Amino acid sequence: MIRVVRLLAPNPGPFTLEGTNTWIVGTGPSVVIDPGPDDPGHILAVADEAEPVAAILLTHHHPDHAPGARRLAGVIGAPVLAYAPEEHETRLAPGEVVEAGDVRLLAIHTPGHTPDHLCFMSEPDGQLFTGDTVLGRGTSVIDPPEGDMAAYMRSLESLRDLEPSVIYPGHGPVVFTPKGKLEHYLRHRARREESILEAVGRGKRTPEEIVPEVYAGEAAEAMYPVAARSVLAHLLKLEREGAVARTGRHRDERFVLVQTKACARCGRAAAPGSRFCRRCGLAALQEAPPPGTPATSE
Ligand SMILES: [Zn+2]
Ligand SMILES: [Zn+2]
Repeated sequence: MIRVVRLLAPNPGPFTLEGTNTWIVGTGPSVVIDPGPDDPGHILAVADEAEPVAAILLTHHHPDHAPGARRLAGVIGAPVLAYAPEEHETRLAPGEVVEAGDVRLLAIHTPGHTPDHLCFMSEPDGQLFTGDTVLGRGTSVIDPPEGDMAAYMRSLESLRDLEPSVIYPGHGPVVFTPKGKLEHYLRHRARREESILEAVGRGKRTPEEIVPEVYAGEAAEAMYPVAARSVLAHLLKLEREGAVARTGRHRDERFVLVQTKACARCGRAAAPGSRFCRRCGLAALQEAPPPGTPATSE
């Protein structure tokens, strides 16, 4: 197994837990993942531990992960690779493998927390570096418009399907039960979505109205504004899926349940904007009308 060392950046906080985990993968040369904030002491400690360094990888550009990269690159002379490179950085495309000595890190695009988020999987042993997509403790922040709940849940599914052996997160402790963790994350979001839909069904119309219903006893009231962003992310996903609709504009936005009609063929709930459920809609498309019959509506 490849050598993995963590250096904890000195930026503890409600969203960064004990601080950002900077990961040093392999030796002679190593690869550094997420140098963290531009903290000279931390960056020098990383350089000390990691040299020689072949590359610096960024999971995403949030201020708790990326700003130290430039200083580190200056100290050790290694390139900075990212999905959406900024000045002095190089593009790392999904599916590319960063190779250095005995290190092989596959870049996996995992949008959701941010559109540009990458995770890195070490080959062949399957250690997964997840940045802010999966944390060692608690859940990741999905804050629209940067955060996208539908993309996030697809990313979690694709990480689960990769069957990682261990998760090295951007914050919090190492996760030695990655399958359980990813399934827990998926279940948690699915349940949350379910209870948000129920709250909308009971007449709650805005994230602020929904939060106390859904988070009561689970989050401190001081965290409600943050929870409201997460509820909004779920509502926007549900809107795209046709389960809720938005009325009003901007500050006066409200969400309502979309009343689904019964499928004209089987009686189950019809797909949004269609007379049929999804399955019958497909079947109807595939049934060619008998020759010579004029097109009719049933
Ligand atoms: Zn982040
Ligand atoms: Zn972070």
